[in-house]
Amino acid sequence: MVNNVKIEIRGLSVSYGLRPALHGISLDIPARGIFAIIGPANSGKSTLLKCVNRTVEFERGARVRGEVRIDGVNVFRSGNVYALRRRIGMVFPLPVGLPLSVYDNVAYAPRMAGLRDRRALDDVVERCLRQAALWEEVKDRLTSLGTLLSGGQQQRLTIARALSHDPEILCLDEFSIAIDPVTTMRIEDVLTQLKSRMTIVLVTNLVQQARRLGDLTCFLNRGEVVQVDRTAMIFSDRPGNQLTYDYTRGIFG
Ligand code: ADP
Ligand code: MG
Repeated sequence: MVNNVKIEIRGLSVSYGLRPALHGISLDIPARGIFAIIGPANSGKSTLLKCVNRTVEFERGARVRGEVRIDGVNVFRSGNVYALRRRIGMVFPLPVGLPLSVYDNVAYAPRMAGLRDRRALDDVVERCLRQAALWEEVKDRLTSLGTLLSGGQQQRLTIARALSHDPEILCLDEFSIAIDPVTTMRIEDVLTQLKSRMTIVLVTNLVQQARRLGDLTCFLNRGEVVQVDRTAMIFSDRPGNQLTYDYTRGIFG
């Protein structure tokens, strides 16, 4: 294991019922930086993320073999799945607003972890909303319902909430699918700022987003890793793999 590897995936296979979704893949995801994952629909991108925080266990009929190690420890062996999930922030394609105020959406996890002091909570809420580039827009309406915000604001609120338990790893699954380009760019800036402090795993259906943001890019196809390399290499004129070339050029997918 190289020292700065945060997530090691080894021989990871997942099938749903009899249908395989991941075929024994292995990957090293570095601590810090943005690790982008691209690939056509149904290539197993979401399944891979779900293995990192073990939510794959919620999927009916899912069978998992192989290992996902975080800091060297196999997540499937870790006794406390809640402690594991607290270390990982997850952002899904559509914002998941809790039917709570903007403030309480972000304060939820810290409160669950026992933080009661109002000043300390205020600080966490402001910090996370600032990190998610949402503070200026909501600071005067912290008590209004989070679900009343615009779609792009709700997605940033989701990110603020994902940051509220100080995750070491932030996973995003096609976060920009339902938001406008301007908000997408703002969130991309946020990720660029956060990446010096955490491991960001960015699943995207937009190859250009991977190109803009990824330090490394992994191309997944039909449940297999076709290529993983520095992003500049993946998008170069000679990535060294015809399938990669064709996919990044939009020839299939
Ligand atoms: P992607 O995110 O790249 O679109 P997924 O990981 O969602 O890919 O899906 C990979 C494959 O697994 C697809 O064929 C999909 O239909 C299948 N799959 C995903 N989730 C389930 C599930 N809960 N039950 C059955 N099949 C599933
Ligand atoms: Mg998906």
